[in-house]
Amino acid sequence: MQEITLRTERRTQLVDITTQVQEALGPTNGAAAALVYVPHTTAAVTINEGADPAVARDLESALEKVVDDDWEWKHVEDPDGPNAPSHIRSSLISPQVLVPLDEGKLALGTWQGIFFCEFDGPRERKVYVTALG
Ligand code: ZN
Repeated sequence: MQEITLRTERRTQLVDITTQVQEALGPTNGAAAALVYVPHTTAAVTINEGADPAVARDLESALEKVVDDDWEWKHVEDPDGPNAPSHIRSSLISPQVLVPLDEGKLALGTWQGIFFCEFDGPRERKVYVTALG
Protein backbone atom coordinates (compact mmCIF):
# COMPACT_ATOMS: atom_id res chain seq x y z
CA MET A 1 0.00 0.00 0.00
CA GLN A 2 1.20 3.49 -0.88
CA GLU A 3 0.12 6.67 0.84
CA ILE A 4 -0.58 10.07 -0.70
CA THR A 5 -0.85 13.10 1.54
CA LEU A 6 -2.54 16.30 0.48
CA ARG A 7 -3.52 19.62 2.00
CA THR A 8 -6.97 20.92 1.14
CA GLU A 9 -7.76 24.63 0.98
CA ARG A 10 -11.53 24.89 1.36
CA ARG A 11 -14.31 23.34 3.45
CA THR A 12 -15.78 21.53 0.45
CA GLN A 13 -13.27 20.86 -2.30
CA LEU A 14 -12.74 18.25 -4.99
CA VAL A 15 -9.06 17.75 -5.82
CA ASP A 16 -7.95 15.88 -8.96
CA ILE A 17 -5.48 13.25 -7.72
CA THR A 18 -5.26 11.13 -10.89
CA THR A 19 -1.56 11.88 -11.49
CA GLN A 20 -0.61 11.27 -7.84
CA VAL A 21 -2.47 7.94 -7.84
CA GLN A 22 -0.69 6.76 -11.00
CA GLU A 23 2.69 7.84 -9.57
CA ALA A 24 2.00 6.18 -6.20
CA LEU A 25 1.27 2.87 -7.93
CA GLY A 26 4.82 2.51 -9.25
CA PRO A 27 5.59 -0.79 -10.98
CA THR A 28 2.48 -2.97 -10.63
CA ASN A 29 3.82 -6.33 -11.89
CA GLY A 30 0.65 -7.37 -13.68
CA ALA A 31 -1.80 -6.20 -10.99
CA ALA A 32 -5.41 -6.17 -12.17
CA ALA A 33 -6.74 -3.09 -10.38
CA ALA A 34 -5.92 -0.17 -8.14
CA LEU A 35 -7.87 0.38 -4.95
CA VAL A 36 -7.97 4.05 -3.95
CA TYR A 37 -9.16 4.43 -0.36
CA VAL A 38 -9.70 7.42 1.92
CA PRO A 39 -9.27 6.68 5.68
CA HIS A 40 -11.44 9.59 6.84
CA THR A 41 -15.09 10.06 7.90
CA THR A 42 -15.55 13.54 6.44
CA ALA A 43 -13.83 12.99 3.09
CA ALA A 44 -14.36 10.64 0.14
CA VAL A 45 -13.11 9.71 -3.31
CA THR A 46 -14.95 9.63 -6.63
CA ILE A 47 -14.43 9.44 -10.39
CA ASN A 48 -15.88 12.12 -12.61
CA GLU A 49 -14.98 14.49 -15.41
CA GLY A 50 -11.46 15.86 -15.16
CA ALA A 51 -11.40 17.88 -18.39
CA ASP A 52 -13.61 20.80 -17.32
CA PRO A 53 -12.87 21.91 -13.71
CA ALA A 54 -16.40 23.36 -13.58
CA VAL A 55 -17.79 19.83 -13.15
CA ALA A 56 -15.95 19.43 -9.83
CA ARG A 57 -17.15 22.88 -8.70
CA ASP A 58 -20.74 21.92 -9.62
CA LEU A 59 -20.46 18.70 -7.63
CA GLU A 60 -19.25 20.68 -4.61
CA SER A 61 -22.23 23.05 -4.89
CA ALA A 62 -24.73 20.26 -5.45
CA LEU A 63 -23.61 18.29 -2.38
CA GLU A 64 -23.75 21.42 -0.21
CA LYS A 65 -27.31 21.98 -1.41
CA VAL A 66 -28.54 18.36 -1.21
CA VAL A 67 -27.22 18.03 2.37
CA ASP A 68 -28.09 21.36 3.92
CA ASP A 69 -25.99 22.82 6.74
CA ASP A 70 -29.08 24.08 8.56
CA TRP A 71 -30.85 20.83 9.35
CA GLU A 72 -31.35 19.94 13.01
CA TRP A 73 -28.27 17.72 13.21
CA LYS A 74 -27.74 15.52 16.28
CA HIS A 75 -23.97 15.08 15.88
CA VAL A 76 -22.91 18.39 17.41
CA GLU A 77 -20.10 17.24 19.73
CA ASP A 78 -17.00 16.69 17.63
CA PRO A 79 -13.44 17.82 18.39
CA ASP A 80 -13.48 19.41 14.93
CA GLY A 81 -16.73 21.27 15.53
CA PRO A 82 -20.28 20.39 14.51
CA ASN A 83 -19.64 18.64 11.22
CA ALA A 84 -22.62 16.33 10.70
CA PRO A 85 -23.23 17.47 7.10
CA SER A 86 -19.58 16.67 6.31
CA HIS A 87 -20.08 13.07 7.49
CA ILE A 88 -23.26 12.67 5.45
CA ARG A 89 -21.72 14.10 2.26
CA SER A 90 -18.76 11.72 2.55
CA SER A 91 -21.04 8.68 2.94
CA LEU A 92 -23.11 9.74 -0.07
CA ILE A 93 -19.95 9.56 -2.20
CA SER A 94 -17.80 6.64 -0.85
CA PRO A 95 -14.47 6.08 0.85
CA GLN A 96 -13.14 4.09 -2.12
CA VAL A 97 -12.94 3.57 -5.86
CA LEU A 98 -11.55 0.58 -7.75
CA VAL A 99 -9.95 1.24 -11.14
CA PRO A 100 -8.83 -1.48 -13.58
CA LEU A 101 -5.18 -1.42 -14.64
CA ASP A 102 -4.08 -1.85 -18.25
CA GLU A 103 -0.38 -2.76 -18.24
CA GLY A 104 0.13 -0.73 -15.09
CA LYS A 105 -1.82 2.31 -16.27
CA LEU A 106 -5.15 3.40 -14.76
CA ALA A 107 -7.77 2.37 -17.32
CA LEU A 108 -9.79 5.57 -17.07
CA GLY A 109 -12.07 6.91 -19.79
CA THR A 110 -10.98 9.93 -21.83
CA TRP A 111 -12.83 12.39 -19.62
CA GLN A 112 -12.44 10.65 -16.29
CA GLY A 113 -10.33 11.78 -13.36
CA ILE A 114 -10.02 10.53 -9.78
CA PHE A 115 -11.07 13.17 -7.25
CA PHE A 116 -10.36 13.40 -3.55
CA CYS A 117 -13.47 14.93 -1.99
CA GLU A 118 -12.90 17.18 1.02
CA PHE A 119 -16.02 17.91 3.09
CA ASP A 120 -14.51 19.35 6.28
CA GLY A 121 -11.44 21.28 5.23
CA PRO A 122 -9.05 22.82 5.12
CA ARG A 123 -7.01 19.91 6.47
CA GLU A 124 -4.12 17.59 5.79
CA ARG A 125 -5.48 14.33 4.40
CA LYS A 126 -4.34 10.85 3.36
CA VAL A 127 -5.24 8.57 0.49
CA TYR A 128 -4.19 4.90 0.38
CA VAL A 129 -3.38 3.38 -3.00
CA THR A 130 -3.07 -0.41 -3.32
CA ALA A 131 -2.36 -2.45 -6.45
CA LEU A 132 -4.50 -5.60 -6.26
CA GLY A 133 -3.23 -8.80 -7.87
ZN1 ZN B 1 -17.88 14.66 13.40
